[in-house]
Amino acid sequence: MKIIVILGAPGSGKGTVAARLVKKLPLRHVSTGDLLRAAAKNADTPAKKAVAETMRKGELVSDEIVGKLVVEQLSSCTEEYMLLDGYPRNEKQAAFLEAELAKDGAKVAKAVWLDVPEEVLVGRLSGRRTCPKCGAGFHVETMKPKVEGVCDVCGAALVQRPDDQPANVANRLKVYAAQTAPLLNWYEGRGVLEKINGVGDADAIASAVAAAIQA
Ligand code: AMP
Repeated sequence: MKIIVILGAPGSGKGTVAARLVKKLPLRHVSTGDLLRAAAKNADTPAKKAVAETMRKGELVSDEIVGKLVVEQLSSCTEEYMLLDGYPRNEKQAAFLEAELAKDGAKVAKAVWLDVPEEVLVGRLSGRRTCPKCGAGFHVETMKPKVEGVCDVCGAALVQRPDDQPANVANRLKVYAAQTAPLLNWYEGRGVLEKINGVGDADAIASAVAAAIQA
């Protein structure tokens, strides 16, 4: 199994690219954000409530909770590629991942960075609408569903993620700059970083990422 890390700010298109890659390659898409949202969905325990509240504010959930989810995915993956989306998010998580993979003599094969300017990120995040049922993503201007407010895939009513609301978007970008952006140097230092321009046609961006992964 080849481990690919996809890096980029919130709104850089990691999930959009991943959805396309799943159709092109024998690849498991592991989004820690999706896994945490599923875990926190019925916030019926204090622990789940705390996770939901942390996510709403755009802060990071504890390294231990997320690390456990990732280890479960690593041990159950049978696909040729695993694409980690949203993990690692800080240097502690990067070191944890490195140590987990080293137990099997493995390492991150590629870290693909979707490079998108901040003003584009803000527009993408504030217009983003998500299907709470199947996870499909839309945008009020650039990726409109066929019927306004309704998921093309499963017909559920689209929602704006609480963390996509303006005050929370600003905080997520701040958290990204402080904690996650240093990982670009981390992976560059290991000789596996690939920078991809994340602005433009989504299919073309996904093709560029697929080529980088297979190179
Ligand atoms: P995302 O869908 O990747 O934007 O993640 C949504 C939220 O889930 C983040 O703002 C964090 O609160 C939480 N989250 C996702 N991945 C991680 C991670 N690797 N470490 C800590 N928190 C995470």
